[in-house]
Amino acid sequence: RQAQYSALRDKACVTKDGQPIELLINAGLTIDLPHIDDTGSAGIGLFRTELQFMVSPNLPRSSDQLALYRTVLDAAGSKPVTFRTLDIGGDKALPYMETVIEENPALGWRAIRLGLDRPGLLRGQIRALLRAGGGRALKIMFPMISDIAEFDQAKAIVERELTYLRQHGHSLPERIDIGTMVEVPALLYQLDELLKKVDFVSVGSNDLFQFLFAVDRGNAKVSERFDILSAPILRALRDIVRKAKAAKKAASLCGEMASKPIGALALIAIGYRSLSLSATAHGPVKALILDLDAKKAEAMINPLLDAPVGSVSIREALTKFAETE
Ligand code: PEP
Ligand code: MG
Repeated sequence: RQAQYSALRDKACVTKDGQPIELLINAGLTIDLPHIDDTGSAGIGLFRTELQFMVSPNLPRSSDQLALYRTVLDAAGSKPVTFRTLDIGGDKALPYMETVIEENPALGWRAIRLGLDRPGLLRGQIRALLRAGGGRALKIMFPMISDIAEFDQAKAIVERELTYLRQHGHSLPERIDIGTMVEVPALLYQLDELLKKVDFVSVGSNDLFQFLFAVDRGNAKVSERFDILSAPILRALRDIVRKAKAAKKAASLCGEMASKPIGALALIAIGYRSLSLSATAHGPVKALILDLDAKKAEAMINPLLDAPVGSVSIREALTKFAETE
């Protein structure tokens, strides 16, 4: 199997009916970097910067952050990397930071919330990212944004740091794209406005589903209580990609759903053309794509999503489609 997947490495990632699909990988540590090339991926769609902080016994210095970001960009070469700013706090607690006891850490003081309340940390990280991106293209993405004002504030920090670096004679990125994760359901109802401001969005399906279904993603008793191939999920995901397309903004999905071949099939069928997945999933998902008639999948799934909930099993239909096509 492995050999079969590596044979696909240099093949263009295009469906049978000629639609290019961008397959990116998720990463977070230097050990992940060889996978950019050994999978034949298009780049890194989600670089989880918090991992450096989580494996370190103390707060990484800005020079350590800068060194890591440079290493990542060097490893990626001409391929794009989307750096997500720190998604810590809540259940991703850092041993060397103030402990906050919260009854609902997933809903708590985490990610961009912490970043905006303690801007020193976020500012330092953004400065390191901008310096690492000097002379090249840089993509920055914010986690857990739940309204537009938060995005504006976070983006303003990027602009301030850019001004600072310019004044101090540093080389600046040639191009900066600033986007956000879509993982808090409230964003679904502000997409039109949000899409005017961002350069791209990436759906964090792990958190989005947790919040949509009020199901703790880390609690095995409940984490399987919803079907990722069901109408409420797929309708929400389809809305996002349709709106992004209409606004001419790039949309990707970087949660676990993309790492399951049947999940990837559903995502392509509802309109996604960019997925970021774990490196181990790259081969199996690419094999599926090369064998997929995307137009046919689209024609199959859309009526099912528009049918009354419960009148059809989307999971069954997709499974059958995957087996017979
Ligand atoms: C997500 O929420 O889907 C995601 C990709 O981010 P994380 O798993 O790091 O929360
Ligand atoms: Mg998340």
